[in-house]
Amino acid sequence: MFNSGLEILRVTIKLFISSLLLTLGLLFNWLNVLFSLPAFLVQEAYGSGHIILQPTNNGNNNNNNSTKVIILGFDDSPKSQFTLAKPILDKYGFKGSFFTVCNYVNKGTEGRDKTRMTWQDINTLEEEGDDIESHTMTHTDLDMKSQQNLTYEIAGSKQCLLDHVGINPTTFAYPASTGHSNATVVNVVSKYYDLARTGDAPLAFLHCNGYKKENNCVPFNKKGELTYENRYDIRNWSDRPHPEQQEDENISYDNSQMFNQFVKEVNLEDSYNNNTCINAIPIIVYHDFIVDSNHRYLPDQSYTDVSLFSAEIRYLHDNGFKVLKMSDLGYNQSNNYLYIKEPITDNDDNTALIKNC
Ligand SMILES: [Zn+2]
Repeated sequence: MFNSGLEILRVTIKLFISSLLLTLGLLFNWLNVLFSLPAFLVQEAYGSGHIILQPTNNGNNNNNNSTKVIILGFDDSPKSQFTLAKPILDKYGFKGSFFTVCNYVNKGTEGRDKTRMTWQDINTLEEEGDDIESHTMTHTDLDMKSQQNLTYEIAGSKQCLLDHVGINPTTFAYPASTGHSNATVVNVVSKYYDLARTGDAPLAFLHCNGYKKENNCVPFNKKGELTYENRYDIRNWSDRPHPEQQEDENISYDNSQMFNQFVKEVNLEDSYNNNTCINAIPIIVYHDFIVDSNHRYLPDQSYTDVSLFSAEIRYLHDNGFKVLKMSDLGYNQSNNYLYIKEPITDNDDNTALIKNC
């Protein structure tokens, strides 16, 4: 009786302890999931694909008095930018920022669209006030390249534009966004350029405080590590579908869905800019242009139907957007912020529309 009672007590204590351990284990796992999940989601959001940015609560959404700015980038030197997009820009007096791949120029039989711009085209763009910037020699993946290769791609493309167009490009664009988070690559870029741009997020922040709140645009922190957002990591976005969920990677958009996305993204700046004070600029990048109003847009392809482009540019014009060039941005060595170089004034009465904050 005594023995079996003791046994029952022993078993009860064992059961109590094991269930307590099980409960603690489950609680620990649950707490682990609870606290690690938001961090994981943030990591994912920054780590892959297009970064989603929500309007802030303290902004001035729908404030029609605020000046809207945008930069229009054109990458990879396809001929269609010159023949299809440039006339639409000209119609509204807007200037583009053309990022040239040196060895693509004059290579009419290479590339997806089988035709590229000539040096004559690029010289015409330059003479007519468009911005010519650098996008490497061969559009190769910059990660895992030798120092010699990096110098060829990064410094060589600057020299190439000096030789063929007589201009000194100050902004570099990473090919397919490769190399922007690689200290070796950024070190070479920093020797030859003031700024560099990469994908893929809705806004570039002049104080580099939009994403991980770096709060200045210095490329390396005190430990010598690359910062997330800096003068050589200025964020742009491509004219492609930007699904908000990872599982929507295979979606396709039509022209009207693309237009709605465009309107949403170009107006995000409203909640970060106050009246004439500019903190955030959308930089949109286009690639190939086609004539196909039934085109389906995919997240990993960059063809823009010319009627969509026309509607987008007309929207910018009708809504008072000021189109800046990439070369309008500079780097202030004393406060380590990006800034807009010239005062942007109203065409009619010359009053200042934009100031740096
Ligand atoms: Zn490119």
